[in-house]
Amino acid sequence: MLEIKNYIGGVFQPALDGETLDDFNPATAQCIATIPRSKAADVELAVVAAQSTQSEWGALSMMERADWLDRIADALEAKHEHIAQTESMDTGKPISLARRVDASRSVSNFRFFAEFSREQPQMTFEMADAMNYVHRSPVGTVGLITPWNLPLYLLSWKVAPALLMGNTIVAKPSEITPLTANILAETLHELELPPGVFNLVHGLGPEVGQSILEAPGIKGISFTGGTATGRIVARTAAPMFKKLSLELGGKNATIVLRDADLTQAVDGAVRAAFSNSGQVCLCGSRILVDASIADNFTKLFIEKVESIQIGNPSLAETVMGSVISPEHLEKVESYIELGLAEGGTVLTGGTRAMTGFKGPDGIGAFLRPTVVADLPHTSRCATEEIFGPMVTLHTFDTEEQAVEMANHSEYGLAGSVWTTDLERGRDLATKIETGIVWVNTWLHRDLRTPFGGVKNSGVGREGGKWSMEFFSEMTNVCVKSGKLSE
Ligand code: NDP
Repeated sequence: MLEIKNYIGGVFQPALDGETLDDFNPATAQCIATIPRSKAADVELAVVAAQSTQSEWGALSMMERADWLDRIADALEAKHEHIAQTESMDTGKPISLARRVDASRSVSNFRFFAEFSREQPQMTFEMADAMNYVHRSPVGTVGLITPWNLPLYLLSWKVAPALLMGNTIVAKPSEITPLTANILAETLHELELPPGVFNLVHGLGPEVGQSILEAPGIKGISFTGGTATGRIVARTAAPMFKKLSLELGGKNATIVLRDADLTQAVDGAVRAAFSNSGQVCLCGSRILVDASIADNFTKLFIEKVESIQIGNPSLAETVMGSVISPEHLEKVESYIELGLAEGGTVLTGGTRAMTGFKGPDGIGAFLRPTVVADLPHTSRCATEEIFGPMVTLHTFDTEEQAVEMANHSEYGLAGSVWTTDLERGRDLATKIETGIVWVNTWLHRDLRTPFGGVKNSGVGREGGKWSMEFFSEMTNVCVKSGKLSE
């Protein structure tokens, strides 16, 4: 059993009051670690540590900090298998996914921001009689708060640009999945990153998270998590005029047009629906299909869903593991019950998975991938974020109807359109009220592009230059040429 500590001012230490929380493997129901249950005093310590090293870290050139990012990427790459195994154990996700996505993309986040920064030109704007130079400074000490679904991947997506732009960090991972954030802290310690540049405080959202939001020394907050928590973040931090980036929930539509390549669309829709047990903010949890191809599509879709290998996350052949916790399993099950009560038909799934896989302390939180049809697109199951292995299937007769159905949502994070007519796909994509639309693909990421949502899915964009902008303040210096009197 691991005993995880906070990492503050370059020192691994327990919570000041010594309290701890248990961390479970959701696939085996086994307690695998304890973490500090930190409070405001621990956060305060971390903020002081971060502030005390701010000027030293901010004084390095961006190129020097980019070199640091490369060193971090190399060190994480050397731990690739350790990270993948740990993430799989902490989240219940299959090891293949943890290797391919979590471990690999955490490395590439650092690598990307290092390389990207080296390509950035000095921003200047020439006038007839003057030159404007845009100077970037760090925001200062920033708070990074992240969720449990892609723990190190989402944390590194914030840590890399925050460090690059010269900020110091107080980070809080989800208390359900703290282990790979700890590996990052260990790695930075081994690399001898100056103490205080990166601080990690473990604990509960309403205690540690809230203290980070409220700390006057924290000048910016980058938050990824649910919309309800995002509201609390905005309510707390906005009156203090902290810089805010909010990446929140989604209820994304997968739109299959009548001219879609069916095999490609079915493969894409299944991947979008059930990757990471449907626990990716970008997952396509509402599938909208042209009525003229609906029978054919549904038959192939269900066949494919039923072929998903669910079970022991540590086996290479497993495609779907458990959901994140027994509580989350019950939440998803309550939506299946609601779907039935709302008049829906369960086409497949709907029950716990009898995987024959039992951990030492009980049965893990496994649920069969579930598809529900015959629900109105306005029903609760089709409009509320479930964030698990359950999707709803709907049909439309015209493209206008498809757009109207897709936009009937308080969320606007992502979506996909499947068609062989690429012009039509592009045109339809622009009519969907959302931050990201893929045509004939899903989760195909170029890290230079803007990432973020509209409506209740968030405020602001991250990725490439948008992350660099968020984690810096810009000063325009206008230098007049010619005689002083002019
Ligand atoms: P939560 O909103 O519950 O938690 C996110 C983080 O916020 C956790 O670290 C949590 O801590 C912390 N937190 C909770 N309460 C507070 C508070 N009062 N003040 C500050 N921090 C707090 O989300 P989940 O962890 O359940 O993650 C799932 C959600 O994240 C889904 O809605 C999903 O759509 C969204 N998400 C969005 C993404 C995007 O890019 N738009 C990407 C991935 C997920 P603790 O865990 O201790 O409660």
